[in-house]
Amino acid sequence: MEKTDVLIAGLGPVGAALGVYLARSGVKVTVVEKTDEVYPMPRAAHLDHETMRLLDLAGGAEAVAGNSQPLSSYEFRNAKGDLLLGFRPRAALADTGWPYTSMFHQPTLEIALREALSAEPSASVRLGVSLVGYTDGPDGVTAEIEGPDGKTQIAARYLVGCDGGQSTVRRLAGIGLDDMGFDEPWLVIDTLLKNGTTRLSTIGLQHCDPARPVTSMPMAPGRHRWEFMLLEGETPEEVMTDEAIDAMIAPFADPKSLSVERRAVYRFHAVFAERWRDGHVILAGDAAHQMPPFMGQGLCSGARDAANLGWKLAAVIKGEADQALLDSFQPEREPHVRDITEMAVSMGRIVCTQDEAEAAARDAGMMQKPEAERFDATPTLRGMASGVIEGGGAVAPSLVGKAGERPDRALGMSPFLVVAKRADAPADKGGMQIVALDEHEGEGVEPFFALMGDAPAMLVRPDRYVFGTGEPASLLTAWAAYLKTGRAGMQAAA
Ligand SMILES: Cc1cc2nc3c(=O)[nH]c(=O)nc-3n(C[C@H](O)[C@H](O)[C@H](O)COP(=O)(O)OP(=O)(O)OC[C@H]3O[C@@H](n4cnc5c(N)ncnc54)[C@H](O)[C@@H]3O)c2cc1C
Repeated sequence: MEKTDVLIAGLGPVGAALGVYLARSGVKVTVVEKTDEVYPMPRAAHLDHETMRLLDLAGGAEAVAGNSQPLSSYEFRNAKGDLLLGFRPRAALADTGWPYTSMFHQPTLEIALREALSAEPSASVRLGVSLVGYTDGPDGVTAEIEGPDGKTQIAARYLVGCDGGQSTVRRLAGIGLDDMGFDEPWLVIDTLLKNGTTRLSTIGLQHCDPARPVTSMPMAPGRHRWEFMLLEGETPEEVMTDEAIDAMIAPFADPKSLSVERRAVYRFHAVFAERWRDGHVILAGDAAHQMPPFMGQGLCSGARDAANLGWKLAAVIKGEADQALLDSFQPEREPHVRDITEMAVSMGRIVCTQDEAEAAARDAGMMQKPEAERFDATPTLRGMASGVIEGGGAVAPSLVGKAGERPDRALGMSPFLVVAKRADAPADKGGMQIVALDEHEGEGVEPFFALMGDAPAMLVRPDRYVFGTGEPASLLTAWAAYLKTGRAGMQAAA
């Protein structure tokens, strides 16, 4: 029987990024994908700076950066056009070296990730092949897959279900969904702008009109996203006709100035898999959690899963960490993604109001503040609350090389120890990479010092969260303990 270290079911963005992380760590990875082409329906339009950095480590960000644009603001306005709530991303690059917002086209990313994965010698990709069953045993999983040549089996130490919202792996594992009770039908339309127009607006708009809530969002240059909430009694068939779409777009743009590329009706919902791991079977991305798109964070959250899980699986398979480390995946990721989902749901509740009186009360409440105070910076996502020690949890900054190169890439999906001075580096590095800030003057070292305070060193996890700050030797000791137990800091002491 064919053998692999990790079998990934599903080659969406999360499966592809995870595949690259594993393959680049020297792990043998096999990915099965039931379709032959990347998913053609309109989906993600926004990526945040942290996600761009993680996708860059998987070979996917350059293609996006070459074909994306930032948002100047994200605004929630009522039917009359009054501002209810707004976010203005900071204009400069984030400390990760990437823009706060990148409006993009999801298939561009998926194609780039697939190319990066295909270039890895230890990765094997099977398109048109579905995972249809598995049995879990003491040493791993025996998976049943089905493709054009019929059914066959693959033995893998771990199976990761990156197979999206309808996850077969989740169903086969008997894992239920915890539903946050948000379930709204929306028509999503991707349009191509005609006559060389690159954008209709730089503003992402939530038009909070109870008569028809609408989202209008720039995507990659030359593309624009529209989303229209279905009203009580409307069916997908009736809102998806050309005539219906033109009529819905008309109040916002001339329908003749664009062509509809893709249309789909989705139910926006918020659900979490009850368990993200069952023996040698793990769920990541939409298979583990789904949120409504009002924060533009579903794919971003899946990329964080891939980064969190990728280095851990590689470390366990290579014998550098105990299997217990895998127990930290859900506790580290779930609170983060729940937090974001709650924000997305509360934004969704503002937008999805279809009752006139409720909308009027909403507007009156939100407009009590002066307009300037209704604007905020891009919402700050919380850092990592477990899997870190004192001084840890923040997203680590990134150096920017003098010629604009990205030293972050060369560090790969590995931990590294940042020291203020080369002389502070410990004699016994335990195989850890060292970044000495005194050797990188003028390359954006200030954000590192801001996080380190007076500490001589900072340890950064492979997924680019700060593990902790302190003396180099004690950081290395704490890291070794975390790899053994999957517990760190207060958590380890408890
Ligand atoms: C309208 C809309 C707007 C969105 N906007 C944003 C946004 O702006 N920003 C953002 O970050 N996110 C956004 N998202 C969410 C984002 O698109 C998803 O979170 C992301 O695509 C999930 O990636 P994934 O790899 O987990 O799953 P998917 O992309 O769904 O990939 C799963 C893959 O698994 C395959 N598969 C399924 N079953 C099997 C099987 N049994 N065997 C083998 N293969 C299988 C499928 O064919 C598919 O290719 C949006 C979503 C929607 C619907």
